[in-house]
Amino acid sequence: MKHHILLSTVALLAACQTAPVAPAPTETTTVEVIETVAPPAAPTQGQQWLYGSAEARIALKQDWNAIAAYVEAKAASRPNTSVVLAPVTEDGATAETADFLACDADQPLAAVFDADETLIWNLGSMGYFTRSGVGFDPAIWDQWEKTGAGKAVAIPGVKDAFKRIRNAGVEIIVNTNRSNTNVQGSADTLKAAGLGEFAHGQTLYLRGDAPGGSGKDGRRYMISDTYCVIALAGDQLGDIADIFNDDALTPPERKALTAAPAFDQMWGNGWFILPNPVYGPSLAGTMDEVFPESTDWAPPKAEE
Ligand SMILES: [Mg+2]
Repeated sequence: MKHHILLSTVALLAACQTAPVAPAPTETTTVEVIETVAPPAAPTQGQQWLYGSAEARIALKQDWNAIAAYVEAKAASRPNTSVVLAPVTEDGATAETADFLACDADQPLAAVFDADETLIWNLGSMGYFTRSGVGFDPAIWDQWEKTGAGKAVAIPGVKDAFKRIRNAGVEIIVNTNRSNTNVQGSADTLKAAGLGEFAHGQTLYLRGDAPGGSGKDGRRYMISDTYCVIALAGDQLGDIADIFNDDALTPPERKALTAAPAFDQMWGNGWFILPNPVYGPSLAGTMDEVFPESTDWAPPKAEE
């Protein structure tokens, strides 16, 4: 190999020596070379935390252990009340008038979970968006729903929790805002992630299955026609109840609504929210909303 390199070098030198000598330039032209190479893609801090960190793996494992333990205990006590908020009256629902659906004694029990960033991490699409510098593109996401099977992974703790929930005799139902026109791709994605088989309209509900667009209450009522829902979990408040999705709410107002007594008792007690610092309505808020004025602080000035 060394010999070959030496020969090549000799040949190159010979070529240089025999090449015609270019005439000396009569004037100098400065060519500005503009760097067009895009900077290397890097995950966002939210992606680093959620998809890449040990801390997120542990947090999710803890959450899914808690969900499984809750469902096991609840199934053993056979509740007569659902954790699905009852439909709003014509006056509209408020935290004060909130009520829950009743369960018939013969209704089978179900736990209802969101899919994206609740059961699966969408590593394929998120990696693509980040590598190509695209924040989010609905058309690309639509392709992801159709073809992403095998490139989304089960969230840590979910598979073990599913075993426990199924062993407790509780049906697992997925209520996702993926489109019902892509039902096959989404069912394939859940299966490929090791989460089992889901059947459209029975254990898998998607956007378009009920009026209300991305609101999930309509689908929760459909599910409740058959099942007594004992647990709801998701990474966004809309996975729990549409009342939290009011766009007019500022982040502090939305936060306060979750702390209303009727709702506050539910967190970890039938309602479960999982961390998602990558996307969604939780990523909002001004300086004043995030840092209340009452907490304003600055280091004391050094004495002169
Ligand atoms: Mg989600």
